[in-house]
Amino acid sequence: MTTVFVSSLADRLAAVAKRHPLLVALDFDGVVAPLGDDPASVTPLPETVEAVRRLVDHGIPVALVSGRDLASLSGVAKIGPGVLMVGSHGDEWDDHPGLDARRSDLDVEVDIDAVHAAAVAAHRVAADHPGAWVELKRTAVAVHVRRMPVHLRDAALEAARQALHGIPGVRLLPGSDVLEATTTRADKGVAVETLRAMSGAAAVVFLGDDVTDEAAFARLGPDDLGIKVGAGPTRAVERVADCAAVSQVLHMLADHIDRDVGVPSEQTRP
Ligand SMILES: [Mg+2]
Repeated sequence: MTTVFVSSLADRLAAVAKRHPLLVALDFDGVVAPLGDDPASVTPLPETVEAVRRLVDHGIPVALVSGRDLASLSGVAKIGPGVLMVGSHGDEWDDHPGLDARRSDLDVEVDIDAVHAAAVAAHRVAADHPGAWVELKRTAVAVHVRRMPVHLRDAALEAARQALHGIPGVRLLPGSDVLEATTTRADKGVAVETLRAMSGAAAVVFLGDDVTDEAAFARLGPDDLGIKVGAGPTRAVERVADCAAVSQVLHMLADHIDRDVGVPSEQTRP
């Protein structure tokens, strides 16, 4: 079924498609791929992969900006070549043409003592809260509660907050059904600004569903387009319901770009 978007979003998509160069940055979980209980087995929506391929084929840089670490993101984000992967909220960048000169700025030293202390505290919380599990990243530790009964999740997150708060070198990043203890200053806002600088983009389209995506929305200006996926407070100027709508938004963007460069649409192709 095709959703008819309110004119504001349709108009904004038409306007941003005319700005060149354009950069498209996407959160992964809950945006490109529907959320699942097992993070290792989520898969991107095929329609969204198809839309991303259309954008890449037009030479538009597309980046996945995820809280997952790079190894985890690369393992599940089967989205084809030419898509830049950015993991750990901007701490980890994969190899990509044009990126090498900037990598030294992005490489961060790992505070092993802080990561270790956070991991010990997080595992203690998980042991006390059946269903909670700990994700270990290079520079961070995350306590996930998505597999727990809904009515027990807040208590587990509060226990995690108390256990992780105050560990030297650790900063807390709350998300949906997750609390992350990171040891770096990275956030998705810095990551999006770095992508903008790397690509020389005149406009950025960013889609995200989680609390940590708000740092990216906060960096967007009037020529950009931020789209929140799902419910919850946001600084994004537009909102869509779910991953299926994300696919439609990206196809609409590709349609506009097809028209602007004179490519026949699906309907008019022989
Ligand atoms: Mg997400």
